Amino acid sequence: MIKVHIGVDDVDSINGGCTTHYAVKLAWMLYSRGVKFLDYPNIVRLNPAIPWKTRGNGAVALRILVESEDSINDIWELASSTLDEYSGVFRDSKKQPGLILHIGDIPWFFKFIAEKALYDLVPLELVDRLLVKSNSTRVYSPSGRRGLIGAVAAVGCTMETSDHTYELLAYRKQEYWGSRRCVSEGSVIAVDREYGDYLILNYDYEYGRVLITPRGPDPVLLGLRGEDPIVLLEAYKKLEICEPVDYTCLFRTNQHTDAHLHSVDSICSIRPYMCVKVNGIVSSRPIRIPGGHVVFKICSGGCCIDVAAYEPTKSFRDIVEKLREGDLVEVMGCTRPPSSRHGLTINLEKIVVREVARVVEYVNPKCPRCGGTMESVGRGKGFRCRRCGYRDQYASKTPVYVERDLKPGIYEPPRIAFKHLMKPISRFGREKRVFSGVLVDGFIQRVG
Ligand SMILES: [Zn+2]
Repeated sequence: MIKVHIGVDDVDSINGGCTTHYAVKLAWMLYSRGVKFLDYPNIVRLNPAIPWKTRGNGAVALRILVESEDSINDIWELASSTLDEYSGVFRDSKKQPGLILHIGDIPWFFKFIAEKALYDLVPLELVDRLLVKSNSTRVYSPSGRRGLIGAVAAVGCTMETSDHTYELLAYRKQEYWGSRRCVSEGSVIAVDREYGDYLILNYDYEYGRVLITPRGPDPVLLGLRGEDPIVLLEAYKKLEICEPVDYTCLFRTNQHTDAHLHSVDSICSIRPYMCVKVNGIVSSRPIRIPGGHVVFKICSGGCCIDVAAYEPTKSFRDIVEKLREGDLVEVMGCTRPPSSRHGLTINLEKIVVREVARVVEYVNPKCPRCGGTMESVGRGKGFRCRRCGYRDQYASKTPVYVERDLKPGIYEPPRIAFKHLMKPISRFGREKRVFSGVLVDGFIQRVG
């Protein structure tokens, strides 16, 4: 038996296509022909900051066991013709779908590209040059080659010993695409309450919002995210869905693992579009700018960078606003390049407040005679009591420590503001380090 890895990316389109949907169609054809799967289909989310990202920036890998060279040829033919058919229906001239099929063990450079594509920019020329050297990789990119970066990264991101989660995706019948999704909010809340800790970010209680149903015309009806595939299947059955479902499929994924955050020692090594976690000292008091974004500056290693908690992070901004000069923090997020209006800026996803600085404020002195508040008479002319008129030309402002309304700790935005890769604090300490390779029955189903 031969191990085969299929990677695909950039099949999304504004007309309703979606990379995972193409992958599920292909996976179902393989599965119903009796092909053995070595893993759940993988959704690999890549650097969310890159400018030409797809919606959600998720690539997919299928890992299967194949009997012969002949079956590999058949599968390759099936995968590429299905891609043609799919991208023919959902034509989008901006898209550059990439499909690869790799035979055998995964070479080091796939893993290298996978790691880099999570937090940095990967030049297409680099991927092209490495692919040319790999005799056991077949490549199909009918209209531009950009999708190959994600396809290679998806195959290379094996998550065998790194943290991962699961998502059960249900797909809509095509005639329903674009219409309102029919999933009962009450059942989402009930399921979230019942399975609690095993589910991830399915409902935002603070803002009363269902998070499992996407908006927009894509074929996804809902995605239930969690820690365990069996629990997800069970929880899914309890959702009240009032429209026909086409396919369901369990994916293994790097979602909600913070896999995109690359530790850097100093702010000086941060380049545009990198996703980082970095320590620094707050060097400017946060300000709320028009649009509701809260912006401050941190420095380390002789370099400084702007950090922004954007308006969609809602109540998180109130915490960020409490920072003061001198606070020691670790910030996490992806960087936007500088523009005429702002410098290189980290889009804040989470913050660890390590040390809260003692902040001194200078206040007018108290009157030694009556205890009232004194006021300045003028520069260098001392102070006078407002109440009794006592004057002291040598008095000066007195330093007082400001009571800080911020405690050391880790802070995150509300659920509603979470993006695919962001790890909620509730998952800290629950990271998975192994994947058993055993799949639950019915991980992929054609319902309708
Ligand atoms: Zn007085």
